[in-house]
Amino acid sequence: MRRRPKASFVKRAPARPAAHHAAGNGAGDPAWMWDEPRWRAAVNRVRAGRSLKPPCWKNGARVGVALSFDSDHETSTLREGSTSPGRLAQGEYGARVGVPRILDLLRRHDLRASFFVPGVIARLHPDEQRRVVAEGHEVGMHGWIHEGTSELTESSERDLMRRAFDTLTKVTGRPPVGVRVPSWDFSATTLPLIRELGLLYDSSLMADDEPYELLDDGEPTGIVELPVEWIKDDAPYLNMNRATAIRPYTAPSAVHEIFRAEFEGALAEGGLFLLTMHPHIIGHRSRIAMLDELIRYMKGVPGVWFATHEELARYCKAAAS
Ligand SMILES: [Zn+2]
Repeated sequence: MRRRPKASFVKRAPARPAAHHAAGNGAGDPAWMWDEPRWRAAVNRVRAGRSLKPPCWKNGARVGVALSFDSDHETSTLREGSTSPGRLAQGEYGARVGVPRILDLLRRHDLRASFFVPGVIARLHPDEQRRVVAEGHEVGMHGWIHEGTSELTESSERDLMRRAFDTLTKVTGRPPVGVRVPSWDFSATTLPLIRELGLLYDSSLMADDEPYELLDDGEPTGIVELPVEWIKDDAPYLNMNRATAIRPYTAPSAVHEIFRAEFEGALAEGGLFLLTMHPHIIGHRSRIAMLDELIRYMKGVPGVWFATHEELARYCKAAAS
């Protein structure tokens, strides 16, 4: 049975030195004071295991393409403890304009994608999640309120993951099978919690271009990693925060050039091309047009398999077993 009953969702005896845990990032002594067991244990906690790149993709396709949308919406403001209506509106655009535009685009191209949704967003916009699922897309976990996972204690992280899992299940009518940790901030205790929830895959780590199996302290977990990268993310190029130096400094045409080159590389290697986007960022007119153009281009190439993260994870896992 893939998913264990709720009763088994109990604290797993930590096989890790407690001193390393704290903020998940090795708080305490400076790193130059650590002995070898300490830095070795930190590195080995979560590692890339065997490659799960399949010999070929479904129906002999040459490349797997996974489009994902992280529906952060208002949590991109709430996560910082801010309640400014002015800032919240920037995220509200993602729900009001971005997601409908994305869904229209995907419908026109007859493609399925994955949407990663914080629990709070599923509660604020339940009809949006139901529409996403009704149109054949996947809804995966993306934290509770887009919290910084590494700042949490293990029990808080467990509580928020459980809440997010239950909320998505209730709203969409289907338990999520995958997770993208908010901001890809995968903590030292995230993997054991993913195992407790019985999830199929994670899509938050960066150890490869191709899918791989996650190792938990050296132990194969059967959990598929569908790796991400900032290169294949709309936010670093196009995000805007007026309180910081972050500015949308990249033209959509340049983002298209980078994404297309990443796709071409995946095609040449028979690999995976996984894009991460955000409705409140990619949903704007000039950018959705760029995504439209990119999809048109990829659809014109023979042997491209567009799939949800769940479909890809299941395919890679089955091909490797
Ligand atoms: Zn996010």
